[in-house]
Amino acid sequence: MSSDVVITVGWHAMRIGEDGMLYTPARGILWDARFAHALCPLDQSHEPPVINCSCGIYLWYTEKEAMEHGLKYGAEPEELALVRMRALEGSTVIIHENGLRTGAVETVLITTSYRSGLNLAFYSNTTLVRLGVFNEASYAFI
Ligand SMILES: [Zn+2]
Repeated sequence: MSSDVVITVGWHAMRIGEDGMLYTPARGILWDARFAHALCPLDQSHEPPVINCSCGIYLWYTEKEAMEHGLKYGAEPEELALVRMRALEGSTVIIHENGLRTGAVETVLITTSYRSGLNLAFYSNTTLVRLGVFNEASYAFI
């Protein structure tokens, strides 16, 4: 019996759209649900994550690694919000070098740095909605 502890929480950087909503930096998918389930873009016959596929929702162990991933897709740092998520109980978790990927997550925290004139999105119950403008670095527990 293994005594390894599997870490099931991590960070993902989301792009903050001009509309104040969050989008995945790589594929530009609107991230508007507190609970999210991955679909495989390559093979819809299997349920993410699959070991020999790249599908699933990726989480990084540190904010820095999540930011570095988000910046690969051309966003400026102030355009990114760090989102903390946890794998839903029962969903498969595959550990990789700097984090994990899983099939289903709950967003538990959104952080953002100041961006002038931006309406930051928040969750109300399970759906992302817009809120007012922030004037300083801020965060929200969901
Ligand atoms: Zn797949």
